Amino acid sequence: MGGHGSNHGTLARNCAAALLLAVWALGDAAHASCFDVRETAFRELRPLVQRNPNRALAEANARIAALPPGAARHEPHTLAALYAVQARAYAQMTLTHPQRAAALAGLALLHNPTSPLRLELLADYAGSFTSPAPITHALLQVKQARALLRPGSRSDICLEIGQGFMNMLRNRPTAAIRELTQAYMQSTAHELPEARVDASEGLAVALRSMGDGHEALALIGRQIRWDKAHHASDDLSGGIYFKGEILRSMGRYHQAIAAFKQSSAISSAIGDRQGTAYSNLRICEADIALKDFPAARSACDRAAPVLIAGRVAAMIKETHVQLAKIDLAEGHPVRAVKLLDRVLDHHGADMVAFTVAPAYLARAEANAALHRYAAAYRDVRTYLRLYQAHNRANQTRLRQALEIRFQARQEFERNAVLRRKLRAAADKASKQKELMRWMDAAGIAGALAIALLSYILITDRRHRRQLVLLANEDPLTRVPNRGHTAQLASAALAAAIEHSRPLTVVLIDFDYFKTINDRCGHAAGDHVLQEFARLSRGALRTSDILGRWGGEEFLLVLPDATLDSALATVERLRLLALGIQIPCPQDKLDLPRVTFSAGLATTADGARTLDEIVARADAALYEAKDAGRDVVRVSRACAQSAPAPRRA
Ligand code: GH3
Ligand code: MG
Ligand code: MG
Repeated sequence: MGGHGSNHGTLARNCAAALLLAVWALGDAAHASCFDVRETAFRELRPLVQRNPNRALAEANARIAALPPGAARHEPHTLAALYAVQARAYAQMTLTHPQRAAALAGLALLHNPTSPLRLELLADYAGSFTSPAPITHALLQVKQARALLRPGSRSDICLEIGQGFMNMLRNRPTAAIRELTQAYMQSTAHELPEARVDASEGLAVALRSMGDGHEALALIGRQIRWDKAHHASDDLSGGIYFKGEILRSMGRYHQAIAAFKQSSAISSAIGDRQGTAYSNLRICEADIALKDFPAARSACDRAAPVLIAGRVAAMIKETHVQLAKIDLAEGHPVRAVKLLDRVLDHHGADMVAFTVAPAYLARAEANAALHRYAAAYRDVRTYLRLYQAHNRANQTRLRQALEIRFQARQEFERNAVLRRKLRAAADKASKQKELMRWMDAAGIAGALAIALLSYILITDRRHRRQLVLLANEDPLTRVPNRGHTAQLASAALAAAIEHSRPLTVVLIDFDYFKTINDRCGHAAGDHVLQEFARLSRGALRTSDILGRWGGEEFLLVLPDATLDSALATVERLRLLALGIQIPCPQDKLDLPRVTFSAGLATTADGARTLDEIVARADAALYEAKDAGRDVVRVSRACAQSAPAPRRA
């Protein structure tokens, strides 16, 4: 489904919908299950669905056959769980008819409308449609099911995500983004990582399909960082795969290939052959766009056998379309036509709709190369017919996208005014030399976020990323805010303790910051904070966490860092801070340099909670300030078992 030639650029956008199907089938299969399904058969076979849908299917069939007669009456839950496995396996193979049949068979057995297994089956059923009318009908059933659930419960959030996907599929990006954003925030608030992965991937796809590649990338980047921090390899490879998809849709083929290679390496390391094959197929497509046909062929050749063995019908055909394009480019139109004849043997009825038009176009080109103009003409006409249908759908979507952008823009401007007002108030407070410790600053940042959030919610505009970002990001420095930092830090600490790995926490507080504000103005202080955050990002590993802890204080979490390497990192940041130029209108000559004091604490001395370890770092910071500033101190508790603290 390449669709990257300038003559059929619009088709590229249709790929978003195909991708959406893939997200729903794959993304969801990549981790346990959004719903909390407890049935043993489902739990046992679910991981196999991702690795090898065919074997999962065979296993489910065998287990169904082995059930005693009357199982539908005596063991409805076991039987329904096996149907759910079937439905997921078919979804993975994008075989929507059998998927629906299996889901319906399962649904018929269960009567409790709120059981997670029943809801899982309902989602499988609802997810098996690709055209608007039946999706609308299925959506109604999902809404009815949600009405019986506690709002914000895990099942409710999972169904809301499903609703978001369905709205995307019927070209309602506005509703989709609202639902997915809400689900994303709720799953974050309720610490439901499975739901959060689904929601953020859905959002990334939604944003991307609206041509908002940059925001989609930002969102997926956030998810990838989270997966890395939590060692979630399955999800990580999926996240990086989607990053590749987004880059490809933005025409950044080299970067896309790098992402797919990374994703493929992770999939292959965890034995996920299917995932490796998908990545290779995408590498093949991107290489074709770059006209590197030998590389494309080798990638497609690696993908094909795995997809064939897995009988992932739609994907096999997609691979063949790519191989035909390569044949044509290499001067073998006869071979290309043969291959495409096989691909189109059912006129595309057995393919994902969005991949059919490019197949016709490719065959038209191959036929034209063979001077079979009548056949080429027929294919071009079919291509145009399909293309126009897609175009109409796209125009609707683009119009809605424009509307959202316009509203979001207005929203953004209003927010900017509000933000300026609130900051002016904070400014005034500091000018009046009110004693304001970092707690107050954190309080104001919190109030600011809450004011913005309620402002947005009350006016009920179609906001998009503000909601997601505001919840997590400090607007000035773009690093995680205090709440989000605490979340990330707690997770990193728990992982460190579980795997008995060292972890160091550093509390950083700028020296004489009030002087900078007083002499050069608040904007100069802001600039220093922004620069520090920006420069630090480049100097840290992706697994390190730097967050704004309040006022001019930052919290740095260094997983897997011994005391020595942590001290080296802090020294790097200290030198970066020293280099920051303070934009000051007057007295340039005797301006102070930008310095900070820092307190370190590590897990080595047995701190178990974030509060404990931060308290130790804070005590060390106090000592550093006492010692005259521009000093780094290690918590006494650690210092006993570590090298002597060092003056920076
Ligand atoms: P020291 O830490 O060395 O003891 O002196 P200090 O001047 O840094 O004192 P303290 O840390 O208590 O005060 C920090 C000041 O930082 C107070 C406040 O005006 C300023 N500040 C807090 N948040 C911001 C901000 O977002 N922007 C700017 N420009 N200033 C801020
Ligand atoms: Mg301070
Ligand atoms: Mg300070």
